[in-house]
Amino acid sequence: PHIRGDSQQALLLLGPEFDWAELLNWNGSGMSVMEMSHRSKAFMSIITDAEQKLRQLLSIPDNYKVMFLQGGATAQFSAVPLNLTSHGETVDQLVTGSWSKKAAQEAEKYGLKVNVACKGDNKSVPARDSWKLSSDATYVHYCDNETIQGVEFHTAPDVGDALLVADMSSNFCSKKVDVSKFGLIYAGAQKNIGPAGVVVVIVREDLMGKARDICPVTMDYETMKDSLYNTPPCWSIYMCSLMFDFLLEQGGLEAREQLNQKKADILYSIVDSSNDFYAAPVHESVRSRMNVPFIIPSKPELEKEFVAEAAKLGMTELKGHRSVGGMRASIYNSMPIEGVENLAAFMKDFADKHS
Ligand code: PLP
Repeated sequence: PHIRGDSQQALLLLGPEFDWAELLNWNGSGMSVMEMSHRSKAFMSIITDAEQKLRQLLSIPDNYKVMFLQGGATAQFSAVPLNLTSHGETVDQLVTGSWSKKAAQEAEKYGLKVNVACKGDNKSVPARDSWKLSSDATYVHYCDNETIQGVEFHTAPDVGDALLVADMSSNFCSKKVDVSKFGLIYAGAQKNIGPAGVVVVIVREDLMGKARDICPVTMDYETMKDSLYNTPPCWSIYMCSLMFDFLLEQGGLEAREQLNQKKADILYSIVDSSNDFYAAPVHESVRSRMNVPFIIPSKPELEKEFVAEAAKLGMTELKGHRSVGGMRASIYNSMPIEGVENLAAFMKDFADKHS
């Protein structure tokens, strides 16, 4: 198993035992899901099934809608303010890395008072008592896992009675989540649950039906509530459904969380026991289980060699995001523990050779 890049990993989980013929002939229908009308009985059963399985995985309460939409998580940076606010209101944003910063910048476009309630240093989350939450914020938006920096909330932030909105694009279905704590959760599929092209939105029903007049129809949660107002990303939804099957078969999200924790621990412990050859810039309390950034602080010139040597062994895409440098191992749901162990062994050898 190879360490792979940032995206499009989920399909690896389908593995060799998957019946690939099914992709061209769904359920004996003679059709691939790619060929079906989205209003056909067959596709209706696929999307209903996908939703039911996701509800089961996350124990989603009945008063939440689940939508499979397009436009990626980025479209939700706009859809959230357009659905939940009218002009002039205050929204709070916790900024802990690149994605929550982008979400805050997008919200600025909609005539809101955007209050950055806390601003991290890309390595930690500011102490809770330093946050400047507004008393009248319509919602508090944050990013549960900052993909680029590797900063992850291990428990949902405490925002009192305020309405919590979460971007879970890069750790969705990687762990158990108490959905009832949130007003809205959104997540692009492509890290942990399927191919790009679909973003899952889970929204409490009382927040629907309040979109602004100017909200594009494809972003209006009330109109889109059945995910079938226009043609949905049928194929991507089907692939997500297969991933939900896989996750359920493997023991659900509790089991997945334990495995993901174990995987991350393997890498962080190599870093921590390397006599300072490697360093993980992120504070231990918010180290991501999905994206593990690390550097070679005393010999940064070796980082290029590290990436090149690892690639020769089939471990590619380890270069850190261009905005932060260093290395980053993205170890989403689809990365088996053996892949992580391979990387750990290589890291140890590399450190021994160059120390
Ligand atoms: N939010 C997070 C945490 C992400 O990791 C990403 C993409 O990597 C996005 C938002 C943007 O997602 P998309 O490319 O689906 O618009």
